[in-house]
Amino acid sequence: MTTVYQILSEERFDKESIVTLLKSEGNDKELLFVKAAEVKHEYIGNMVHLRGLIELTNQCSKNCFYCGIGASNKKLQRFMISLPEVEEAIQFSYNNNYGSIVIQTGEIQSESFTQAIEDILFSITKIGNGKLGVTLSCGEQSIRTYRRWKAAGAHRYLLRIESSNKELYYKLHPNNKKHNYDIRLEALKNLQKCGYQTGTGVMIGLPFQTIENLADDLLFMRDLNIDMCGMGPYIEHVDTELYKYKDLVPTKEARVDLSLKMIAILRIMMKDINIAATTAMQTLVDGGREMALVAGANILMPNTTPGLYREQYALYNDKPGINEEAEDSKQSIEKLIYRAGCVIAYGEMGNSRHFLL
Ligand code: SAM
Repeated sequence: MTTVYQILSEERFDKESIVTLLKSEGNDKELLFVKAAEVKHEYIGNMVHLRGLIELTNQCSKNCFYCGIGASNKKLQRFMISLPEVEEAIQFSYNNNYGSIVIQTGEIQSESFTQAIEDILFSITKIGNGKLGVTLSCGEQSIRTYRRWKAAGAHRYLLRIESSNKELYYKLHPNNKKHNYDIRLEALKNLQKCGYQTGTGVMIGLPFQTIENLADDLLFMRDLNIDMCGMGPYIEHVDTELYKYKDLVPTKEARVDLSLKMIAILRIMMKDINIAATTAMQTLVDGGREMALVAGANILMPNTTPGLYREQYALYNDKPGINEEAEDSKQSIEKLIYRAGCVIAYGEMGNSRHFLL
């Protein structure tokens, strides 16, 4: 059998090698993280780029079985942050030199929604004098809409495939036109055609998910030649369909361990892409985002959503930061970056080198 040491000296991992790395323990696991740190040091350095996150609306027309803001959750109060409030959050990021903004929403396809995002994009350009990077995470849209938002100033787009395995995908989503795997994949390809820095990602530790599925997810990201990745552990939400399978979910420790290995392996496979240290990591373990930075991530997204709305954007249970305001989130993020031995690249957009080179 090929050893982890031999695998790590390979130029290109195949599925079997990735499975071996995902299963590694003890010294072998240590070797994986050392290699990922070396690659990160060489291609990325220890700079962390910030994106001020605005969770614009929890309105959503979909019913993904894992997500707390799905349309069928009647317990939620639905909100859409007003333009002046969004502008205040943008100003906060600009004043604090965050370098970039992320706008995240539920999934809505309508002219008024397209227009609302366009207006926000114009505001970002105005407030930031064109110096703020913009990532959108607003789900599947027509190529026309993607083009419109690109022309209005968006640079990047994050659309997680959630799982690249079709069979598993349909265990996580209803099998209908609104939740179609092929349409989601086509949307990702359309984003690339429109010239976005394109990101995707998956949830890790889902019920029914195998190590082989996760290995395929990493190969999917390499084959799609993505520029950015946001992936993290699956976390149960009591008011969702998937909750009934909670006994099939790996322990918190196992999900954290797998997520860190996924980040480390992806860093080795796709050396110069941007990888986010996600909030979900922090939910499962204190210091989870620091661990993600050490494992190979280089992007952090301090939440700048006005405190009033945060509780209603509960994608999963125990989401951290719901009682905070932008200033509190800023302080906790700064501390954790220094604790991880990294340096904040203030005022820089932090575009994906993979895209630029
Ligand atoms: N609606 C947009 C989309 O689908 O691309 C973006 C917003 S969506 C709420 C953001 C991400 O939250 C999803 O892509 C999903 O991976 C993640 N998410 C939702 N529910 C989750 C859960 N229970 N555990 C972990 N991540 C979850």
